[in-house]
Amino acid sequence: MIRVIAFDLDDTLWYVGPVIKRAESILADWLEKEVPGYSYEPSTLMPIRETLLSEDPSLGHRLTAFRQQLIKASLVSYLDEQSAASHAEGAMEIFLAARNEVEFFEGALDTLRDIARSFQLGAITNGNADIYRLGLNDCFSFAFSAEQVGAPKPAPDLFHAALAHTGCEPAQMVYVGDDPIKDVDAANEVGLHTIWMKSNDKLIKGESNPDETIDDIRALPDAIRKLVDR
Ligand SMILES: [Mg+2]
Repeated sequence: MIRVIAFDLDDTLWYVGPVIKRAESILADWLEKEVPGYSYEPSTLMPIRETLLSEDPSLGHRLTAFRQQLIKASLVSYLDEQSAASHAEGAMEIFLAARNEVEFFEGALDTLRDIARSFQLGAITNGNADIYRLGLNDCFSFAFSAEQVGAPKPAPDLFHAALAHTGCEPAQMVYVGDDPIKDVDAANEVGLHTIWMKSNDKLIKGESNPDETIDDIRALPDAIRKLVDR
């Protein structure tokens, strides 16, 4: 008996590319206004990024911590240590606010609210989208991020955290995601039901098949019904 529907967020409920691009641009404007002479350039950040990652590889999945440290490190030639740290903190707040201003796929919110009447919903994400900032906390009752749990998908840790939290057996949970490997293969491996949201034409191939495939989030209730009826 299926009880819980868990979701990947980015590219499953909205396109993440434009969201990050806009958030980066808002972040750059803010920093350049706050710190005279500073320019937020991806090309100058790249070497700092490499250094930070080699010092602490876990930053690879701790996206919020990573970005904040990156900003701070890029500011130290313009500001004293303490001021760089506080500006990095302020900048991160600006970025996160913008990063959670997303344009949901058409019908996504209505679909989620509809499903939430019959199932418990939650988020399982590698990124730093936040159900509270997104206003999804009215229909989502849990959220686990790679940053919290310590290992990104396709590792099983996030799924195990959601199973423990909901007290579900794997067969009682459906996972909906867009990535054939990090979402579909990873959730299949743990024993969850999977629905592949084919939101783009990425050519990545997974090793396993989803139980159902949709290319419009509004088709989700029907896909879930098919799983329930099996
Ligand atoms: Mg995704």
